[in-house]
Amino acid sequence: MYEINQTHDQNLKSWVEQANAPDTDFPIQNLPFCVFSRACSYEDLRIGIGIGDFILDVYPCYEACLFDDESFTIAVVANDYCLDHSVMRKNAKVQSAFRRRVSEILSEDTDEEMRKIVGRNLIPIAEAELWRPAHIGDYTDFYCSIFHATNVGAMFRPDNPLLPNYKWIPIGYHGRASSIVVSGTEIMRPKGQNRSDTEQSPVYIPCKNLDYEMEVGFFVGCGNDLGEPIPIEKAEEHIFGLCLVNDWSARDVQAWEYQPLGPFLAKSFATTISPFVVTMEALAPFRVPVFERPEGDPQPLGYLTSEENQKFGGIDLNLEVYIQTEKMRDENIEPHLLSRSNMKDLYWTIGQMLAHHASNGCNLQTGDLMATGTISGDSKDSRGCLLEMTWRGKEPIQLPNGETRRFLEDGDEVIMKGFCEREGFRRIGFGTCRGRILPSD
Ligand code: CA
Repeated sequence: MYEINQTHDQNLKSWVEQANAPDTDFPIQNLPFCVFSRACSYEDLRIGIGIGDFILDVYPCYEACLFDDESFTIAVVANDYCLDHSVMRKNAKVQSAFRRRVSEILSEDTDEEMRKIVGRNLIPIAEAELWRPAHIGDYTDFYCSIFHATNVGAMFRPDNPLLPNYKWIPIGYHGRASSIVVSGTEIMRPKGQNRSDTEQSPVYIPCKNLDYEMEVGFFVGCGNDLGEPIPIEKAEEHIFGLCLVNDWSARDVQAWEYQPLGPFLAKSFATTISPFVVTMEALAPFRVPVFERPEGDPQPLGYLTSEENQKFGGIDLNLEVYIQTEKMRDENIEPHLLSRSNMKDLYWTIGQMLAHHASNGCNLQTGDLMATGTISGDSKDSRGCLLEMTWRGKEPIQLPNGETRRFLEDGDEVIMKGFCEREGFRRIGFGTCRGRILPSD
């Protein structure tokens, strides 16, 4: 696990003024990776670092000889079109050296000469096109919020909401990697089989109960060989960083198809991720103990337990979901906050999810994406999807302009945000993960 070091110092300031604004997601203490190109250009994609309202174009800085020693080995591959070919494969020592050097060249202690060179390679985020940061060979979605699992279980099995395996296994399923899209991509309402009228045969129609799920994703850094499980003690060495995930869900399709093998077409039409990947090192100040299991709950088996995971396995990451309908946009009404939750409320940690995933010898590969499952808290205003918030549509939500929602309608935009804050440290954020619903064609 990464130590807290000088790159996390809350007094550190950047000569890039926007990075010192109190509400920026990308202060010099964050330095998230992205893959970008200049908007409307035919330039090749390349690797950048978020700083204030800008992206630092790393490769020209390498060409200007700003990187040395170990930091060099990341900068030299920054002209690649995805992070998994290059940056994500590097070990913690190299990642750390690179972060230290980027922090140095962006810090206010930098001389004029250096600022000139670096300044030429800052591109406003508003003028950049952001791409999927990794190729993503495989995608796995977990189900690790016990509050979400209990709520959803209660709707379908009021007497027995949690299945007996839940407290022993981080439950997950294999998702679809090809339909993972980056924030801002429009989402077409999917069609599927609907059998809401149980007296009739199912019909193939546009999804009626379209939902979002507020989740956090994590990218696999170094993989493991087939047949070689990853011990829980080493799990985090295989995690590169985090992003926000919206696991769009077609609830009516899901209700009809999910038994006996779990979600399929209800989930595979689209998953949106935020474009900036916040590294595990940037998150070091925000680590917290694993979720405290209520008395009477079993302790996890040995391959899912380590002292470090118990003490620092959780992440204190605040999450927010907003909605802006088409009518709200027309009336210039700001997006409306639907819910707030926190990643630290997950029953299982990302280290446990990864160790469990590899525990049968399954080989994880660099750039694979895993997501936590919907993150809900124990209060009503911390429910991470509409299925829970409206209790299957029975309790519609009131929006500020008088509109109501059971599920998403065409033209609705869902906006997710995430940020970490802690006394004595600089707040860091994840940017946004957004998507707007288009009508079915
Ligand atoms: Ca999910």
